[in-house]
Amino acid sequence: MKLTSSTIYLSKKAFLNNIRFLKSFAPNSKFFPVVKSNAYGHGLKEVVSIVDDYVDGYCVHSTDEALEINTNNPILILGHINKSEKELIEILKTKELYFTVYSEQTVDLLEKIAGKVNKKISLFVKVETGTHRLGLDEKDALSLAERIEKSNLLNFSGFSTHFANIEDTTDHSFAKKQMEIFNRVIGEFNQKGVYKHNACSAALMLFEETRTEIVRPGISFYGYYPSRETIVSLNSKGYNRKNGLKPALSWITKPLQIKKVKAGEYIGYGLTYRANRDMVIAVLPVGYSDGYDRGLSNNGFVLVEGKRCPVVGRVCMNLFMVDVTHVERVSVDDDVVLIGKSGEEEITADTLASLTGTINYEVIARLNPYIQKKII
Ligand code: PLP
Repeated sequence: MKLTSSTIYLSKKAFLNNIRFLKSFAPNSKFFPVVKSNAYGHGLKEVVSIVDDYVDGYCVHSTDEALEINTNNPILILGHINKSEKELIEILKTKELYFTVYSEQTVDLLEKIAGKVNKKISLFVKVETGTHRLGLDEKDALSLAERIEKSNLLNFSGFSTHFANIEDTTDHSFAKKQMEIFNRVIGEFNQKGVYKHNACSAALMLFEETRTEIVRPGISFYGYYPSRETIVSLNSKGYNRKNGLKPALSWITKPLQIKKVKAGEYIGYGLTYRANRDMVIAVLPVGYSDGYDRGLSNNGFVLVEGKRCPVVGRVCMNLFMVDVTHVERVSVDDDVVLIGKSGEEEITADTLASLTGTINYEVIARLNPYIQKKII
């Protein structure tokens, strides 16, 4: 009897390769990979268990994610606090958290909590440099930093910012402006020993100036490139699919049922697919609730025995069907690759992203956390 519908395999070798590769850009920086959103869909606990000895810390979006991480490494909260004061006190007893702050109220709250846990809490002030997401304008960022500096209960650790437009363009004038603003704030603060960080994957790989005290790559840590430009740039330096980043995740299932469909019969909801010949299909126990995008209906493909098998009909909530007519001796014991390699063929998050008009980030981040994980 089948216990699970599909399995995500995580390659330790790929993660270690990616860490080594990314660290080679910034060997003197602390390496804090971004593991928010269930480690970009890969499984937070599993990823941390694989890489904990090889990283200097982690970045997450919120405090509830920090709670899930079993580590002695520091955890930097990039976004917000979504735990109560009482819960935060409990978390801080066992974990080293660094907070990103962009309001006086949060600083006041963290100061109060630091008093209660009797240990200093480290804060980074987020600077608004043009993304208009989280962050404070130059003047306010500086006055918040000074407010933190005055506290005996808080550590002012430094400044951070985030780029708006590196992945979508090769014109980096906007990013350069952001960097200028960021550097001006740091210059004006005029204190030695403060950290600064702004390196997402693309910045880390493209801009030397961002290889500061901490780097925070996300997508590249999982083996994917954030933009076409980063691929081209690395190719020009001699990196390719063999010696560059390697996708760490494969997603595999097995058919629930193999069945024959006669020419003229329909497949799936909405009767959107009509067989124009006798065919054999496999019904797979995966659907859009697992993160297999409905946009792959009559559009995507899976791999069986190294062969491409097109999705036929609509992707349902928990099932979809593929044409396996050309796979010899197909059976319910066959591995069906949704993401990963089979023979000479490969499906990556980039493949699925281009079929559905989105980005590789979204394909992996939307994988259902309930999918079982195996580390290989
Ligand atoms: N830093 C911040 C603040 C982010 O929000 C993210 C991702 O969204 C990252 C770093 C990592 O970005 P990337 O996945 O492009 O490396």
